[in-house]
Amino acid sequence: MSGILTYTLHYEGEFNKNSLGAVSEGAKLAKELGEEAHVVVVGGDDLTDELCASLGNYGASKVWRAKAPEGLAQPVVDVMAKLIEENGYSYALFGGGLLGFEIGAGLTARLNAGVTMEVTEVKVQDGKLVAERPILQDSAIADVGYEGDVGIIIGRLNAFEVTEAGDGASAEVADVEVELKPWSTRATMVERGEQRGADVNIEDADILVAGGRGLGKQEGFELCEQLAEALGGAVAATRAVVDAGWYPYAAQIGQTGKTVAPKLYLAAGISGAIQHKVGMQSSENIVAINKDPNAPIFEFSDLGIVGDLNKILPKLTEAVKAKKGG
Ligand SMILES: Cc1cc2nc3c(=O)[nH]c(=O)nc-3n(C[C@H](O)[C@H](O)[C@H](O)COP(=O)(O)OP(=O)(O)OC[C@H]3O[C@@H](n4cnc5c(N)ncnc54)[C@H](O)[C@@H]3O)c2cc1C
Repeated sequence: MSGILTYTLHYEGEFNKNSLGAVSEGAKLAKELGEEAHVVVVGGDDLTDELCASLGNYGASKVWRAKAPEGLAQPVVDVMAKLIEENGYSYALFGGGLLGFEIGAGLTARLNAGVTMEVTEVKVQDGKLVAERPILQDSAIADVGYEGDVGIIIGRLNAFEVTEAGDGASAEVADVEVELKPWSTRATMVERGEQRGADVNIEDADILVAGGRGLGKQEGFELCEQLAEALGGAVAATRAVVDAGWYPYAAQIGQTGKTVAPKLYLAAGISGAIQHKVGMQSSENIVAINKDPNAPIFEFSDLGIVGDLNKILPKLTEAVKAKKGG
């Protein structure tokens, strides 16, 4: 057989959005290929029949369940390699994220497969999958096809849309026994932590001060943090600065980040790319600071300030503090 096997990550009895997007994408592609949509989940006793079967609501027809340590890459590589070898899947699909990248890379090496990472779309051409991968700082898209028996497709985080069938369909659940490789049990999960900034729920904030590449460097975010603090708001970011490691992913707004609609969205040093716009365009008031009078963000701002954010942000912070009497 051919077909697609999609990996699904769960934590504390819930599948994450990124994984559900991958399941939906896998189901859509399987349908186009005329195949069934199969999914694999790896973990402990919290993987109940009911939880696994619920993936049917995102289009999965069969869920393979393996008992193995969760949150670590190598045990999942063992499970997926066995399933692919025994069932002859042609593709393995991942939603991305750090674990998806690690498992996908390990599986590629194990199976001597072809791999594409940071995929934003997958299409069917002549009965085969072709992955679309943005290149050259996202200014162009490369179409990647696969030679050989197995193709590994690793999506960009949250690039695949979650589609609920809404018909309450449940997937068949099948257990798979896997003998883990000796090296796969050498690492153990000591602690799971959230990265800095993850504690602030920017989706609920009334005021957001968002920073982009125009901040110049990671330390530039201090200007946003000071203004956000004075205003009683939170800090958000563009994908460019999250990718550069200047700010945590939890703060990313846009197509592959969060969607927000605060009372005030203040964008500093943000060009206003469409992928950013879709995450914040419903904000009640959009104020943009940009040194380029032709920056696209001014086209959908309620108030535009043309100038250097390094001068404007501190002055704004001072003014807000003065007004609040602080
Ligand atoms: C599939 C896909 C998904 C994507 N998802 C997202 C997403 O979820 N969120 C997202 O944000 N992006 C996303 N992107 C990326 C997006 O296309 C843009 O590359 C990104 O939003 C640009 O970020 P930026 O505005 O910080 O940087 P830039 O586009 O580099 O803009 C920086 C701006 O700062 C201004 N500037 C520079 N110095 C100063 C200064 N001293 N004072 C004032 N202004 C200054 C410049 O004039 C410029 O307009 C995605 C792209 C793709 C292809």
